[in-house]
Amino acid sequence: MTFRIGVLAYQGDVSEHLAAMRRALSDGEVIPVRSPDQIETISGLVIPGGESTAISEVLENFATAISDHGDSMAIWGTCAGAITLSTEVIDPDGSIDRKVTPLRRMSIATVRNYYGSQKDSFQVPLELKGVGRFPAVFIRAPAIERAWGDAEVLGSFDDKIIMVRERNMLATTFHPELVTDTGVHDYFIGMAREMM
Ligand code: GLN
Repeated sequence: MTFRIGVLAYQGDVSEHLAAMRRALSDGEVIPVRSPDQIETISGLVIPGGESTAISEVLENFATAISDHGDSMAIWGTCAGAITLSTEVIDPDGSIDRKVTPLRRMSIATVRNYYGSQKDSFQVPLELKGVGRFPAVFIRAPAIERAWGDAEVLGSFDDKIIMVRERNMLATTFHPELVTDTGVHDYFIGMAREMM
């Protein structure tokens, strides 16, 4: 089987993820995913940043394909994508945020727009387990408020979790596709290769 990574291609940072993944992956294919039948042809799926309310609606069409094949591929959600993988999407006061219906695949609770609006975007160098020092870009980013069970924290900023791995799944609240450093893409490619 060809080693293939797919990027959910409806809304958000799709072209940036396709380009970054193509820079990082020299011996495989990187494809835009627009239909649920493509899911069984890939070893890794990226759910990009964008608007989680819109992306979670799109994912309703993929729910069956992801539940059938989600344990035999790696899945990575960045920013809005991380929100869609959460078990709980909560408001800062801890009540459930009902604007998003998440896939509930990762043992994490996220708070949308934790770092403020678009104008509050920022970049900060952070140490990430398995990756090293990385320039993390935050844009209307969520916070990962809690991680439990098999979820392993790979990075934090101030008192919030920003990167978590749980078995074959990865969540980052920042945008690795917007910088030239492909360290986090390389890390995810490694996870996807383990699924071959
Ligand atoms: N704030 C956005 C949301 O809740 C996420 C922002 C992003 O992906 N850059 O969907």
